[in-house]
Amino acid sequence: MDISVVVPLYNEEESLPELHAWITRVMAENGFSYEIIFCNDGSTDDSMRVIRELAKDDEHVHCVSFSRNYGKSPALNEGFKRAQGDVVITMDADLQDSPDEIPELYRMITEDGYDLVSGWKQKRYDPLSKTIPTKLFNATARKVSGIKNLHDFNCGLKAYKKAVVKHIEVYGDMHRYIPYLAKNAGYKKIGEKVVHHQARKYGTTKFGLDRFVNGYLDLATLWFQSKFGIKPMHIFGLLGSLMFFIGFLATLTVLTLKIVSMCSADYHFYVTNSVYFYLSLAAMVMGLQFFLTGFIGELITRNSPERNKYGIGEEW
Ligand code: UDP
Ligand code: MG
Repeated sequence: MDISVVVPLYNEEESLPELHAWITRVMAENGFSYEIIFCNDGSTDDSMRVIRELAKDDEHVHCVSFSRNYGKSPALNEGFKRAQGDVVITMDADLQDSPDEIPELYRMITEDGYDLVSGWKQKRYDPLSKTIPTKLFNATARKVSGIKNLHDFNCGLKAYKKAVVKHIEVYGDMHRYIPYLAKNAGYKKIGEKVVHHQARKYGTTKFGLDRFVNGYLDLATLWFQSKFGIKPMHIFGLLGSLMFFIGFLATLTVLTLKIVSMCSADYHFYVTNSVYFYLSLAAMVMGLQFFLTGFIGELITRNSPERNKYGIGEEW
């Protein structure tokens, strides 16, 4: 099979028939063998009925449906598990992404050898309240992830080599950082294609302003995981040692002050009057906490099923 189109959807009943017809037309025009996997993320409208109707007359249509709304990332993850095509294409269900981009995306993966090609909605049809924070978000993501050539991390329209989607796990709200997940899994040939974007035709956006706060928190998590995920002691041990060292210096200082004051017969010097006393106390306690966090982190990674899971590029 050439292509699996994975479509996460939450309450998109109006868009689905048009989307299905459009994908079908593009596939027929290009002679691709394909499947469409609708990932219903617990829709409460008639989306499921519409998908069943579509599937009746079209064997290309497959569906995985959640019992409740879990989020776009879990929906994508389930779609990825089931995808069989050599190239996997993800696309939003709201008709904002154009299926006409599929042939070129497919070509970039199969001929240009990209692991992942992300769409770039260079001209966006979204309100300013969304486009401006998005610019900032993408700049930060570029910096933190080290993927310097991407302008639009969170574009719903993306194409992948099959191996990529089988090796990454998208959870929580991590769909915003799939290129970063792919890079961390060793798939570094990541490209970009300018894609057409349209205003939402039916329904409303499913994400609120909290997307930006959560987006940044997720980025921090991913950065930490990629740097210290399997060796947490390397960061906490370092911070702990640093704190202990500061605490040690402060203790030494306060002791010296005390001894000096005793020798000079100034018995009015109390260690509790010195700022170094409090510094040594705080630094020692914090240092100990960093160390304990590091040990607990090590115990957790030791028991994690991921601890010895590596992406294998080749095997002889
Ligand atoms: N979506 C989903 N689960 C959710 C929220 C959204 O599957 O909890 C789907 C939604 O139906 C759409 C895609 O993810 O197909 C992108 O969502 P939306 O268009 O609302 O996001 P925006 O374009 O505003 O970023
Ligand atoms: Mg949309």
